[in-house]
Amino acid sequence: MDKPVIVLGGGIVGISIFRYLALASIPAHLLTVSPTLYTTLTSRNSAVLHTGMHGPSQTSNKVKWCKEGREMIEDFARAKGVRLEKTGKIMVANDEDGERRLEEFRSLGEALGVSPLSLTSSKVASFSPNVSCLSGLLFPTTSVVDVQGLCQALELDARSNSPDSHVLTNAKVTSLSQDPTGGYDLTVRQGDATYDLSASFVVNSAGLDAPSLYSSLFQVPSGEGPRHFFCKGHYYGYQDRNIIDLPVYPLPTKDGGGLGIHGTKTVDGDVVFGPNVEWMDEDVGIHGLTRPDGTERDYWGVDNEADIKEAFVESIKLYLPTLNPDKLSYSHCGIRPKLSHPNMKEEYVRQHDFYVGEDKDRWINLFGIESPGLTSSMKIGQVVGDMIKERLRNG
Ligand SMILES: Cc1cc2nc3c(=O)[nH]c(=O)nc-3n(C[C@H](O)[C@H](O)[C@H](O)COP(=O)(O)OP(=O)(O)OC[C@H]3O[C@@H](n4cnc5c(N)ncnc54)[C@H](O)[C@@H]3O)c2cc1C
Repeated sequence: MDKPVIVLGGGIVGISIFRYLALASIPAHLLTVSPTLYTTLTSRNSAVLHTGMHGPSQTSNKVKWCKEGREMIEDFARAKGVRLEKTGKIMVANDEDGERRLEEFRSLGEALGVSPLSLTSSKVASFSPNVSCLSGLLFPTTSVVDVQGLCQALELDARSNSPDSHVLTNAKVTSLSQDPTGGYDLTVRQGDATYDLSASFVVNSAGLDAPSLYSSLFQVPSGEGPRHFFCKGHYYGYQDRNIIDLPVYPLPTKDGGGLGIHGTKTVDGDVVFGPNVEWMDEDVGIHGLTRPDGTERDYWGVDNEADIKEAFVESIKLYLPTLNPDKLSYSHCGIRPKLSHPNMKEEYVRQHDFYVGEDKDRWINLFGIESPGLTSSMKIGQVVGDMIKERLRNG
């Protein structure tokens, strides 16, 4: 058997790459440090399939891959019976500046072929009666998806198409050396066992940890390697399922941190509000989720919950004045892996786009896979899979 491709990272992006390779008859192993798949960013997002409006430019990966990725997920979900609700989404403005920005989004949407519809406040209320605003925009193509169901269907599709491809959980690559015939020899620790694996290619799709994993395995001197800036976003659940009828978004934050504290409904009908924007201490971005001394730190906790709730109530009431704070309870948080920080001087900003690059021979890094990474995941799988196919063909 040919040496397999090793995909590091058991989130939706890793599984999408793994599946694409399996369907292309390229043996692959998916290896993840966590005890189960799809637990980190993949289980901590809004589960919205976006239209592709939020990227640094119309030709950016974020915009192109989001649009194509959404269509790929819709087709796949239809074929495999994954739950997906084509709800549409409403973006609302509550002041003059907001209305100006809404108009910019309308023009951008037109240019991208998304066809947003301008709505008066009473028309907005006809879609979701509790929403109050000056005006709104309807994006009819937005949907919400069962993320776990999607991941499981991708995994099943991969396994049934390629019996030689395997998933290894609780597994960590501790060292690597380049194989002179091409590819890598990896030492892997899994529980108490340590063993060697050979790979024709390695894909680093380790989410938040991708830069620190790369720097540690290639011994990049501290401070010189790639890095993520972490931007936390908290979520609250709401006890009344009828408060909104479809995803409702305010305007995105101006610092590029997030899309504003929006309300979404899961495919099960539960209402969730969030995420807010909380930039984490910069040191975290250098060392990833593990401190330099190797100890783990709990990044998924919440500090000052009462203050956060107060800010949520204030933001949400701008478009849902009947919100009852007593029905709002803390749920969880996610962390966005950003490639830039608002305090950064413009000349140091590497990029705001998804980064996919063969940074070492037969080693592909994926950095900055924040939103709309879920929507783009199947397209990213295809892009990375095609890069590997091309390289393996050409040697
Ligand atoms: C608050 C928030 C809201 C979002 N909302 C949306 C949305 O509505 N729509 C949308 O399209 N996108 C959204 N996103 C983005 C989306 O969730 C992510 O882009 C996507 O889940 C990224 O998947 P991933 O596989 O890259 O990362 P992850 O799901 O984090 O997977 C990374 C994997 O790597 C593993 N790993 C870590 N270190 C190692 C190692 N050393 N070796 C091997 N494996 C390792 C982890 O255990 C994990 O399995 C949101 C993100 C956030 C944070």
